[in-house]
Amino acid sequence: MKRILVTGGAGFLGSHLCQRLLQEGHEVLCVDNFFTGRRQNIHSMLDHPNFEMLRHDITFPLFVEVDEIYNLACPASPVHYQFDPVQTTKTSVMGAINMLGLAKRLKIKILQASTSEVYGDPGVHPQPESYWGNVNPIGPRACYDEGKRCAETLFFDYHRQHGVEIKVIRIFNTYGPNMQPNDGRVISNFILQALRNEPITIYGDGSQTRSFCYVSDLIEGMYGLMQTSKEITGPINVGNPTETTMLELAQLILELTGSKSQLVFKNLPQDDPKQRNPDIRQAAEFLNWKAQVDLKAGLEKTIAYFEKVMGQG
Ligand code: NAD
Ligand code: UDP
Ligand code: UDP
Repeated sequence: MKRILVTGGAGFLGSHLCQRLLQEGHEVLCVDNFFTGRRQNIHSMLDHPNFEMLRHDITFPLFVEVDEIYNLACPASPVHYQFDPVQTTKTSVMGAINMLGLAKRLKIKILQASTSEVYGDPGVHPQPESYWGNVNPIGPRACYDEGKRCAETLFFDYHRQHGVEIKVIRIFNTYGPNMQPNDGRVISNFILQALRNEPITIYGDGSQTRSFCYVSDLIEGMYGLMQTSKEITGPINVGNPTETTMLELAQLILELTGSKSQLVFKNLPQDDPKQRNPDIRQAAEFLNWKAQVDLKAGLEKTIAYFEKVMGQG
């Protein structure tokens, strides 16, 4: 049994990871400042004898004794990471320094939740880990993209300079239960709009693409990466390779919900990537990983979750 620190553990992905680690028989220390995390995401774990919650902002030092760290703390949706962009960069950069300092002192391994956003609006398609990306360093998405890029730099420098064992996962768009209803991400927006028979808001002409990964697949890849041997540092892409346009996504959600919603077209946000698709050959080779849940099956589960949440008012 290990004692494992999960930063951002009250968030969407963090709460699923905490559940998974408890199931594996570990002790979990969940650290979160509740900026976008929610109590209800961890509610079912609060009584678990192996679960502990600590309210803390990782931009400040943290002195605890643990065996492994998963660093997930950071708002992930544009609406939230652009709300306080300076804090977003601080969370990625100062948060990484503090968590790496902790890992260095304790001589333990640490995983960084990086993102496909390090590729920006990609000029190479699909995106392999070797692609250096196309990011606007001064645009509205930069606090997130550049913060995450700098965090990767810090991870590799602590690895090279101080011998810290690191695992860097580049996560592509992920969805499922425990997503925040109001975080403005496309899947939560479209499902809620469809369930309320409100207009579905397509940004731009809806031809931009994303590749959506169901949360259980993502957690499997993240957990799997942490179990790999020391030489495997990543970065490794984890995402579902099936690419979908936002128009196709809207149509599928309309079909699955039986909604009467109309489509409305709004302005495309600045620097919105036109396409995104993971090259997952490394995940297949090093993690023996592949996505198991297709978009339709994952959306059905996610729609059922949002129906339940709406029913609770
Ligand atoms: P989320 O917003 O649901 O979770 C982030 C959690 O971090 C929240 O609980 C929030 O309160 C906490 N947090 C934020 N700033 C903090 C700080 N300074 N100190 C302590 N806690 C803080 O987002 P998510 O979708 O669960 O994303 C988790 C991680 O995965 C993030 O690092 C994100 O960048 C990365 N990621 C997610 C996706 C995705 O599609 N969901 C894609 C790529 C990368
Ligand atoms: N740190 C922490 N917890 C620890 C050890 C370090 O939060 O258990 C913080 C520490 O406050 C420092 C950062 O991690 O700001 C980086 O640590 P490192 O040892 O690399 O840097 P130094 O302390 O030498 O500046
Ligand atoms: N999007 C949309 N309508 C919405 C919310 C988002 O068309 O109500 C688009 C958005 O412009 C982007 C895609 O859906 O092209 C994915 O957006 P999201 O914020 O979920 O993720 P990210 O852009 O960070 O990949």
